[in-house]
Amino acid sequence: MLLRNPLAGRSGHGFFEEKERRPRGSAKASQGLLITCFSIARGLPIIIMCFALFVPSLHAAPLKRTILVLHDSTEDAEESDEFRFTRYSALVLNHLGMKMRFHDMSTGLLPPDSKLEDVHGILTWFKDDVMFGAEAYLKWLKKQIDKGTKVAMMEEVGAEVEIFREKDPQTNKWKEKPVKLSLINEVFNSLGLEFKANFMKKTFLLELTHVDPSMMNFERDIKFHLTSYIHVVSKNPKNKIYLKAQLKGRENSATDLVVTTPQGAYAGPDTAAFDGTSDLKQQGWLLNPFTFFSEAFEIEDRPKPDYTTLYGNRILYAHIDGDGFNNISHIDRKSMSSEIIYEKILKKYTIPHSVSVVVAEIDPKLTGNEKSIPVARDILKLSHIEVGSHGYAHPFDWKVKKTKTKDGYNAIPQMHDIHKYKDIDFRKEIEFSSHWINEKLLEVPKKVKIFQWTGSCNPPEEALKIPYEIGLLNLNGGDTQFDANWPTLFGVAPLASIKGHYIQYLTSNSNENIYTNKWQGPFSGYKKVIETFQNTDKPKRLSPMNIYYHFYSGERLASLNALETVYDYTLKQNHVALFPSDYIHVAEGFESTRIDKVGAGWIISHNGNLRTIRFDALKKYPDFTKSQGIVGFNHHGDSLYIHLDDSPTHTLFLTNKKPLTPYLQSSNVMIKNWNKKENQLSFEAQGYETATIHIAGLRPDKKYDYVIGKIKASKTANKEGILSLKFAAKDTNNILISLK
Ligand SMILES: [Zn+2]
Repeated sequence: MLLRNPLAGRSGHGFFEEKERRPRGSAKASQGLLITCFSIARGLPIIIMCFALFVPSLHAAPLKRTILVLHDSTEDAEESDEFRFTRYSALVLNHLGMKMRFHDMSTGLLPPDSKLEDVHGILTWFKDDVMFGAEAYLKWLKKQIDKGTKVAMMEEVGAEVEIFREKDPQTNKWKEKPVKLSLINEVFNSLGLEFKANFMKKTFLLELTHVDPSMMNFERDIKFHLTSYIHVVSKNPKNKIYLKAQLKGRENSATDLVVTTPQGAYAGPDTAAFDGTSDLKQQGWLLNPFTFFSEAFEIEDRPKPDYTTLYGNRILYAHIDGDGFNNISHIDRKSMSSEIIYEKILKKYTIPHSVSVVVAEIDPKLTGNEKSIPVARDILKLSHIEVGSHGYAHPFDWKVKKTKTKDGYNAIPQMHDIHKYKDIDFRKEIEFSSHWINEKLLEVPKKVKIFQWTGSCNPPEEALKIPYEIGLLNLNGGDTQFDANWPTLFGVAPLASIKGHYIQYLTSNSNENIYTNKWQGPFSGYKKVIETFQNTDKPKRLSPMNIYYHFYSGERLASLNALETVYDYTLKQNHVALFPSDYIHVAEGFESTRIDKVGAGWIISHNGNLRTIRFDALKKYPDFTKSQGIVGFNHHGDSLYIHLDDSPTHTLFLTNKKPLTPYLQSSNVMIKNWNKKENQLSFEAQGYETATIHIAGLRPDKKYDYVIGKIKASKTANKEGILSLKFAAKDTNNILISLK
């Protein structure tokens, strides 16, 4: 962002095995299967592994996980997919286990049938009533509803007026023609509704006759926001109506404004979200989007792939953007900020990190000094550090290719020694910078793993594809903030931003630049990130914890203290610390996870490194007698988190009965090769911290013998039948517990 050892024997690379990375949707399902086979089957009989992977195809079709978002970039190009959809809806849909795909209706083209095969539902959220190809769109939409695709319509129909790509010579505006009401009603009737088209704007007569608190007034009170409505009536007795209004004393004015139906849902204008102000912090949801989308798409009871949690603990990852590496610290007035971060933070907090540098700041031929290279080498060789590139010259805006924008702002920082470099060169920023870091700063086998986007973190697809082409992961952008200053879910970023065939993975929290008002103070501001950690954990765990800052945090005592406060807080929470690259692998697993319904259970496959399946508001347990590939479970809030093992397929059945067999309740380190037999339980644990592993389902107060590596010991399970093991985790620890 803008934006500006002692651990011998550790490999410094991630927990998960690397696999080939490819653009989104570029491989057909069958190719995907084969690639997974080869990467997983290292050293194992490939045929057996692949057969296991193909198991789901012998059963029912997978649960469709894609929500197709239709938007119109002529309405507000800047906001339509960048902000309103990815922020408002994507976070909620990701939490519900769904992925998003976008289609811009301003092209006048409908999504081709070939792109609909994996689509479970369609979400429309238009802001005006005109569209190129409006009639064809309405006919197409009705066809999708009749085929069984769920449709959630937010705000405007978006297609009440057909516009043509031909201008009226007198007005110089697009020619237009109103669409017949009967055609709009074909869509509404399919949803179990009637669209009466009357626009009711009589604020002083408008009265809300039914506001269901289970859906409405989620973040803001509807009564302060609704001043008009479009007349819509629910027609199906099975519909659930959450908001009704009428004009006082006017006959036939009663309207149903927020309705979920067996075919989808409808939320009229100004009933879903309040965004009628440019102050983003004043915006917010009017309806409960979790309930609304769950009902609209009928996904409440589904198993949901979850990217926030691993083995029952919340994921924690840390990364540093390279800005301010050489800044002289106010703390001793001689050390560089990077030296302070090295001594005071990175040597003290040895959880996995990704640390990046900006080449122009390190190279002495540019703005680096004689200490920059040796200090960078010392930092980057730490074994709990993986390496990122933060660009060559650190563009502030990836969409402005020239040095100066219209308002005179520098797109590229003015660095005297690189004055010849004027326009952003994507290859130089991403590929050259990574090679430079590999060659000048790293010792084999360490290499740059992640490109950490710079500045506004707004790469166009043309730039986003480069990390994919050269085998790097990518991260940054997101800027989640959800606290008293920004008290709305609108401030919480989704998992990723999708641009054509490529995915930009977003950070899970904001960095100190934002909390210090762009580094103008108060310099202790970063402490406030803890409030967001808390608000995104309860009542729903919406994101991992992400410690994210720049080297310039080493410049001030207040900012350094804030960092320590944040590290200390996160390490006291139930967490599992991952390298950012491993977190991105989890996120990739969210994309690829396949779930097949088989009888009363599910087969989960292609989940890669995503190892958590969540159920919400369900008082059940995994049925270990029927399930396979499940190591355990725990509860957080109203949700049940199920921990998958490292095998390629998992069979999951649920039961009402609490299990009476040993299982993993939680672990802060990676668990591999989980193997439970009648008389013993064995597994491997791998991590960078003191391991804390809770095994449940044992006999209360019974003493159990166990072996960790070469150490034999015994310990008594507590009154709940939970055995808690604590030990210093090394690369791999073999653990064996006797169940006799
Ligand atoms: Zn930066």
